[in-house]
Amino acid sequence: MDAPKVDGWWQHATRLLLAPRCLICRERGHNGADMCASCTKQLPWNLTSCLRCGLPMATNGECGDCLQRPPALTQTRAVFVYGFPLDRLVPRFKFHHDLAAGRLMAELMAGPLASAPRPDAIVPVALHPHRIRQRGYDQALELARPLAAALALPLRPDLLHRVRATAPQSELDAGQRQRNVARAFRVVPHAALPGHVALVDDVMTTGATLQAAARALLGAGVRRVDAWVCARVP
Ligand SMILES: [Zn+2]
Ligand SMILES: [Zn+2]
Repeated sequence: MDAPKVDGWWQHATRLLLAPRCLICRERGHNGADMCASCTKQLPWNLTSCLRCGLPMATNGECGDCLQRPPALTQTRAVFVYGFPLDRLVPRFKFHHDLAAGRLMAELMAGPLASAPRPDAIVPVALHPHRIRQRGYDQALELARPLAAALALPLRPDLLHRVRATAPQSELDAGQRQRNVARAFRVVPHAALPGHVALVDDVMTTGATLQAAARALLGAGVRRVDAWVCARVP
């Protein structure tokens, strides 16, 4: 008659050990996710934005910059505005090998992106092989893989290659960013091209990297390129 009691204790202990914890504040996870109710409530959803570049705006529409100089991207879906708690998750994912943070970001992105115009394939914004070796993984691919699975879309990490090792964009101003990534991407020759591609990346700042990747894909014959990013820096 003692066994159920021991089992009960053991089950309770393992439940506590295995229960999801908030990656931000270590509180108990909400709805089985690695984020607590309080942090979930504070998520800065980017609900109204420029449809072309994802810039947060008071209503959905097109921002002045995109009206003046239409970007290569047909549409940008930036799920969040960069801020708490994304400013904790993104650096952990990007610089500290925290792949659980990336999985959580992909989970959060999948819901809103299910209603985005459906592409023929998801393409992660490639890092240069040198950078992948330094970091040990490719963060855009780590986001794109679970997204493709959640939305039942083909994943094509083979399509786009980074052919120039560029300086980190975070150290440059807008003009320098554009020059830095011009001709940084190449589409694999003779690849079977999807008609409509969604480029996936973690953070969009000026959009220079995504625009350069989109131009390479359009130049190779892709008809339409959208961007799907986790967070937009306003
Ligand atoms: Zn929390
Ligand atoms: Zn815009």
